[in-house]
Amino acid sequence: MAHPVKIIGVVGAGQMGSGISQLAASAGFQVLMMDVDQPAISRGLNSISSSLSRFVRKGAITQEKMDESLGLIRPTTSLEDFQPADFVVEAVAEEESLKKRIFSQMDKIVKPSAILASNTSSISITRLANSTKRPTQVIGMHFMNPPPLMKLVEVVRGMATEDPVFETTKVLAERLGKTVCCSKDYPGFIVNRIIMPMINEAFYALMEGVGTADDIDSGMKLGTNHPMGPLELADFIGLDTCLSIMRVLHQGLGDTKYRPCPLLVRYVDAGWLGKKTGRGVYQHD
Ligand code: NAD
Repeated sequence: MAHPVKIIGVVGAGQMGSGISQLAASAGFQVLMMDVDQPAISRGLNSISSSLSRFVRKGAITQEKMDESLGLIRPTTSLEDFQPADFVVEAVAEEESLKKRIFSQMDKIVKPSAILASNTSSISITRLANSTKRPTQVIGMHFMNPPPLMKLVEVVRGMATEDPVFETTKVLAERLGKTVCCSKDYPGFIVNRIIMPMINEAFYALMEGVGTADDIDSGMKLGTNHPMGPLELADFIGLDTCLSIMRVLHQGLGDTKYRPCPLLVRYVDAGWLGKKTGRGVYQHD
């Protein structure tokens, strides 16, 4: 049977939204990429171009393929343009109230048969689904950063998600070249439930002066065979996103072991959010 998804809408053109748009266009889907912020769209398109150019330079794709992929991405600042989308992936900031508002808007705009997915790292899919009139067609589709390179997609079923919606999402992830792991809808799902407390603990170690950032990162890289140290990874993810996820774990699981490290909070208060703002634990170009 032909796969029902032809047009993919992506809400948010930040680190993840632009990466998901690139991935979908590279797999031949038409993509609508929406952001409220015009500069964010320009940055998103630039980052897609430079990522595809790197693939061309490495000989992984041809210049024609790059041009074809770029031609499949239609940027917009209006959700109203999502009417023809068959599948939407929401990738705005990790804030429940914002995501709920977007799900409720999308529900009114996007055609009734479409699936609404969230790339949330930790927020309840069941609650997002409940802000729509189509909770059976809402699902979590959690890409890893950067989406064009990382192999995993964590698929999260809400309480009401129907089997065919799960199947379509799984097949879509596979068409995008990914391997799926399935998680139940608990705070942080599988990946962030495990990785985020480690990152948070690295901030405690830094705050308490157990070691410098370099000591902590090289200790974990060389000592546990992780490709990146936890503080370097936090800068890569975005410290605001890390803090939001810790708050979801803390509130949702109710255990003090998940309390966000005050040093992480201070970085976010300062607007030092990591790679995306040029400064986090480390300085970035
Ligand atoms: P980001 O800050 O880079 O991008 C968020 C984008 O959302 C911004 O461009 C912003 O302008 C846009 N936005 C805000 N309000 C909007 C609205 N009302 N409508 C449309 N766009 C709006 O964040 P990110 O790192 O791309 O994270 C996005 C989502 O992906 C979060 O839910 C995060 O938890 C999840 N995620 C992040 C990572 C990661 O490593 N950064 C990995 C997996 C999942």
